[in-house]
Amino acid sequence: MEKENLAIIVMEKDKQDYIINHYLHLMSPKEKLAYKHAHSLLKIDQNEDIDKIKRVYFKAGWLTKDKSALSLLDNGLEKFNENTARRIIRDHISEIFFNYCPNCGKLARTPTAKQCRFCYYDWH
Ligand SMILES: [Zn+2]
Repeated sequence: MEKENLAIIVMEKDKQDYIINHYLHLMSPKEKLAYKHAHSLLKIDQNEDIDKIKRVYFKAGWLTKDKSALSLLDNGLEKFNENTARRIIRDHISEIFFNYCPNCGKLARTPTAKQCRFCYYDWH
């Protein structure tokens, strides 16, 4: 793959993580179910008493049996994040603040960051 294409993909991934990490509230109810489900599974994966914990998590609503929510995870968590971030950007673009560095133009780590993680420019 050419270097430039790779740079575009990396930038996309940054954008996706930014959305998933900071705009969770813009997820649809099904997306939230799927998100909670996947992250709960990751958390209990290492535990010895998986069945017991699963029962507790189902009761708490952290794990779901909702088929349409689960189908969002059919292609893995990475793909889910990608699709969900795309959908959120498409439907909620006016509610999202992309916090770009005034110096280098790259995306900051959070919407409220005032220092660039790439060039270390400070805009306090
Ligand atoms: Zn910068």
